[in-house]
Amino acid sequence: MELENIFGKTLLELTEMVVASGLPKFRGRQIAEWMYKKGVRDFSQMKNLPRELRERLANEWVISRPNKVDELNSADGKTSKFLLEFSDGVGVEAVLMRQPYGNSICISSQAGCNMGCAFCASTLHGMVRNLTAGEMLAQTFYINDRLREIGEKVDTIVIMGSGEPLTNYDNVLKYIRLLHEDYCLGMSYRSITLSTSGIVPNIYRLAAEEIPINLSISLHAPENNLRSMLMPINKKYPMDDVVKAGEDYGNATHRRVTYEYILIDGVNDNIKQAQELVELLKGQLASVNLIPINPVAERGWNRPSSERINAFEGYLSRHHITVTVRREMGKDIQAACGQLRNRHLK
Ligand code: SF4
Repeated sequence: MELENIFGKTLLELTEMVVASGLPKFRGRQIAEWMYKKGVRDFSQMKNLPRELRERLANEWVISRPNKVDELNSADGKTSKFLLEFSDGVGVEAVLMRQPYGNSICISSQAGCNMGCAFCASTLHGMVRNLTAGEMLAQTFYINDRLREIGEKVDTIVIMGSGEPLTNYDNVLKYIRLLHEDYCLGMSYRSITLSTSGIVPNIYRLAAEEIPINLSISLHAPENNLRSMLMPINKKYPMDDVVKAGEDYGNATHRRVTYEYILIDGVNDNIKQAQELVELLKGQLASVNLIPINPVAERGWNRPSSERINAFEGYLSRHHITVTVRREMGKDIQAACGQLRNRHLK
């Protein structure tokens, strides 16, 4: 008989499971707290459960978390990338970035991705499968445990690794709610950011959930033809609809929406395009995060010069768009999502 993995179950689900096994309700919370708050993976360590019960649970359930199969650390010590493998052999990447404001981690929501963005390594082998809430939580716990060893913790989470989180909606929402629960990590919703390529119906759905997480939308171009070339999903959900959904999200949650914009030399970084971007976002509760691209040799794409980056940033800023330029982190360890996993797939 295959044992059921309970890592990623909510308190409600655990309570229903214990009640169905003829146990009192309060055992559900005890198990949740051992598993999430104390990080226990073995029922024998759940000391306030009777010994017979611990043995019985170990015969029915398992607390399964992934193994680390590879790790890369940047020379400056600020970025660490982990390849984690689940029990079915599927591997995903999770990244720790030591930012001035704390420990930020980047979590994958799918193994691979089928969105086909032209600049992204995660999509090269398509999507293997969605990750469960427990598998996303297990990535978080893996890094949090590593940090706990040195007296630190995960401070902020971005769901921005491999995968399009809004096409794995229910699992991602369950993961976000679990992060917030008092019996789990008790994280504030404001410390969580979800990044999407622009799955319009699910942006509206997310806005109605009443969980004020930060939303980040990959825009990368200020007009439809170029955006469709960079991001094929634009043919299904065109740019204006995406920005309108982003505006709705900002109005509903009072959170500033961030538009991600990869800067590619000679492709989307001229001043006319900066003008179009200003027109598109004028008057919105929004900011733009410019990300100078890591060169993509197969496509002949290069990072713009500092002058071009500064000119683009300066134009947005002078026209009252809040703008940041992403600092490069972990360039020496292939920080772009999907590259470590692809190396193992080869
Ligand atoms: S950028 Fe994100 S949505 Fe696009 S292919 Fe990569 S992982 Fe998928």
